[in-house]
Amino acid sequence: MVAVDHNHVLLCTQLECKTMEEMLTSMDQAKAEGANIVEFCFDSMNFTNISQVDYLINRKALPAIFSYRFNSPHGECKSNCIQVLKRALDLEAEFVEMDYEVASEMSIGEYKYNRSRSKVIVSSYVNDGKPSTEKLGDLIASMQSIGADVIKLEIAVDSINDLPPIFQMLTLCQVPLIAIAVGSRGLISQLLGPKFGGFLVYGSLGSKSVAGFPTLSSLRQVYKVENLKADTKVFGLVSNPVGHSKGPILHNHAFRHARYNGIYVPMLVDDVKEFFKTYTATDFAGFSVGIPHKEAAMACCDEVHPLAKSIGAVNTIIRRPMDGKLIGYNTDCDASISAIEDALRERQVCKGVASDTSPLAGKIFVLVGAGGAGRALAFGAKNKGARVVIFNRNYERAQALAHAVSGEALPYECLHKFYPENGMIFANASAIGMEPNSNESPLPKDALKAYELVFDAVYTPRNTRLLQEAKDVGACVVSGIEMFIRQALGQFRLFTGGLAPEVYMRNLVLEQF
Ligand code: NAP
Repeated sequence: MVAVDHNHVLLCTQLECKTMEEMLTSMDQAKAEGANIVEFCFDSMNFTNISQVDYLINRKALPAIFSYRFNSPHGECKSNCIQVLKRALDLEAEFVEMDYEVASEMSIGEYKYNRSRSKVIVSSYVNDGKPSTEKLGDLIASMQSIGADVIKLEIAVDSINDLPPIFQMLTLCQVPLIAIAVGSRGLISQLLGPKFGGFLVYGSLGSKSVAGFPTLSSLRQVYKVENLKADTKVFGLVSNPVGHSKGPILHNHAFRHARYNGIYVPMLVDDVKEFFKTYTATDFAGFSVGIPHKEAAMACCDEVHPLAKSIGAVNTIIRRPMDGKLIGYNTDCDASISAIEDALRERQVCKGVASDTSPLAGKIFVLVGAGGAGRALAFGAKNKGARVVIFNRNYERAQALAHAVSGEALPYECLHKFYPENGMIFANASAIGMEPNSNESPLPKDALKAYELVFDAVYTPRNTRLLQEAKDVGACVVSGIEMFIRQALGQFRLFTGGLAPEVYMRNLVLEQF
């Protein structure tokens, strides 16, 4: 028998295959990807003979759960189900998993009396509305009373806001508990399970992510869930969509590099107001805020940094440890403006010019875009003494922003003819040029000659058409990746209260993203 290592969190992959050969091949893959236990889902197989259980038990290279979900789309025959489960118990598989209904019928107490080595997982699918601690607690008590060694709950959720009772149950439950909130809105039930005492985490094979299940490799390499402790601080990216973000890779690696006891997870949030009302525990120590919540999240903060307040958007929220209040910041502004200033200063040094004032002071700062990034750039440039001129597809939005920064808004069609002087600054804060439209640019190449420096907030691709053409005409260029790195450094400092490992984070972004 392959031993279960109780000192490590169990990382499990559910194997749903038609044949035994496929089961064994997938098991080998799961082992190579870091699983320390697999679940043979018998209800997915073409069941021909009970000796199939013997075959898998004799050949498995990892501890295993033998499950047969009678109510699964595949599991048709109850007698097959009971035969398989009994045989797995007879052969002392490490774990045998059965539905609550089947477990009640089989009187598992008798089996357990005769056998000490198989642990029985009793599972139930909970799909009767919003989960509550009372409902889950009652169900767990009745599952425990029929002799479950481990309880598994698969819980249908509509929103990430349904998860806190599940975390509470994981903390309180007297028997080992596996709790899965089903679907992409339940993903953090897996990522944070070990922090709250969860018995096992499910990870999917390969790079294809299954909704609600992280990949095994991300559990091992990005989240390192085996390191989670009860006092690990949780940080999250509150956004929708959230799956594309590189934030988890960057922040989790940076936390580990700095030996900071934290985890950073994607949080797919629909209703941001409800989210901050629900997640009030001090475990949830800070948040990045992404599209489309940057403005609405500001209203959820107890205090907002004056710059973020004037911008009207927060991209970072910290729960202040001393009183639990939510404090909002905007690290996009400083990130983009400091990147532009540093590039201009470098140019000044090369020309032998030095000045104490901002190199943006007195310059015409042409901004395309009046969304979240545009607002951050407009306020930042204005604070440095630049004359801000805004072009935006939606002219009214440009006018509103121009009014807020005492700048000027001009119709979008006038952008390429705008040439009041040489040596201006151009900043693209619109989505133009972003993948998959990477052959687009907000300005024709010829018109770029009027600019000393061109900045592009777009960072996918890293070298946009705008930047390539600006370089061709001799302008200094600053990439959105520099803004991305700097806003992440700012967030890291706010999250941890310490210095960010700048060289490490910069190299990670430049090498891996
Ligand atoms: P947002 O709030 O949704 O604003 C989008 C802006 O792009 C609006 O001004 C919109 O104009 C404009 N726009 C979109 N599609 C357009 C098109 N086809 N033609 C002309 N204008 C168009 O988004 P955001 O957060 O400000 O992000 C804007 C860009 O900045 C994105 O590419 C984003 O990836 C990038 N960004 C980069 C960083 C970084 O760290 N480098 C950080 C934040 C954002 P309308 O008002 O007319 O709709």
